[in-house]
Amino acid sequence: QVIFRDYVTGFLSESDLLINSTTVNLKVPAGSMTALVKNLYLSCDPYMRNRMRKPDPSSPATALSFIPGKPISGFGVSKVMDSGHPDYKEGDLLWGAVGWEEYSVITPIPNLHFKIHHTDVPLSHYTGLLGNVTHFNVLVHHCLPYTFLCSLAGMPGMTAYAGFYEICSPKKGETVFVSAASGAVGQLVGQFAKLMGCYVVGSAGSKEKVDLLKNKFGFDEAFNYKEETDLNAALKRCFPVGIDIYFENVGGKMLDAVILNMRPHGRIAACGMISQYNLQIPEAVYNLWLITYKRIRIQGFNTIDYLHKYSEFLEFVLPYIRQGKITYVEDVADGLESAPAALVGLFHGKNVGKQLVVVSRD
Ligand code: NDP
Repeated sequence: QVIFRDYVTGFLSESDLLINSTTVNLKVPAGSMTALVKNLYLSCDPYMRNRMRKPDPSSPATALSFIPGKPISGFGVSKVMDSGHPDYKEGDLLWGAVGWEEYSVITPIPNLHFKIHHTDVPLSHYTGLLGNVTHFNVLVHHCLPYTFLCSLAGMPGMTAYAGFYEICSPKKGETVFVSAASGAVGQLVGQFAKLMGCYVVGSAGSKEKVDLLKNKFGFDEAFNYKEETDLNAALKRCFPVGIDIYFENVGGKMLDAVILNMRPHGRIAACGMISQYNLQIPEAVYNLWLITYKRIRIQGFNTIDYLHKYSEFLEFVLPYIRQGKITYVEDVADGLESAPAALVGLFHGKNVGKQLVVVSRD
């Protein structure tokens, strides 16, 4: 198990998460409506950092903070090993809420634990490309004699889909900028925008990632923001006529520079602002006043509100995956012991593509 040591201030570090060994009862009581699952893949997501803040009634982001001394939880792909629930049987593959541990005892609930029906695509994709959100808070029963509240934020595939098509109102020929563009969400947004016939530019934090954007995901242009001394100038170079759509993943200085380069009536989908998650005091965005002047629409969103679109999303995306028209890069950390480093690495740009942890391959 990966245990949450205590509430975190400042940058998350590996020592905030402890590996614990315990014993597991491999049977669940008949009729208990629970199932014992073996966790195969775990999803590493930036929102998990926000669940490490000390609960504060004035901050909704802390309503679902992890409990010190207990395993952290998130999204994963798992296999049913034993079931006391009539709708789930041994061998069923599920994706949904699980603890960060080798085995979890779950109470399967529709919209929280989904049976995997399409197995002709890699199972790991259900942590990212094909993952969705759960919109319930639920009691997750673990292998230890306790329970805790668990709720999950959005997953990359649906996030990119809802954020781009619903929030950005894209049109063919428009100019699109994506930050954290090689990550779990960003790589898909860029590909969706290209499918729509947009001009697409991405920013990322290394040469390897920039190459990926241009040569694998088909972005028209890309730059390494860590090597640019002037983000405003970098954006002007890539967008001589300005930006129609900004898919915002990072916030801070990038957002400030983007606003300067937005075209009138541009749209900003505020998906996330990872550059702020480890800060005690968020950075100021100095150019916000230009939003009015340029008539820019900036809209935050949570994928949780688009759960009803999941089957539409699958119908849209599965043919593209099967035809190889959408590609998805994953960064796979091996073994539960590597999970703390994988999660921490998100906040230092160590992941190349969707970060996940393989706990077991079967
Ligand atoms: P990624 O796979 O993109 O991983 C995070 C990446 O963010 C890193 O690899 C790094 O890439 C970049 N990054 C980290 N720290 C900073 C920093 N200080 N400044 C700039 N970039 C940084 O994560 P996801 O694709 O899963 O998530 C992307 C965003 O989407 C996050 O903000 C997340 O919170 C949000 N999100 C929102 C959802 C919603 O429902 N609204 C649902 C899911 C995600 P690089 O090397 O390029 O710096």
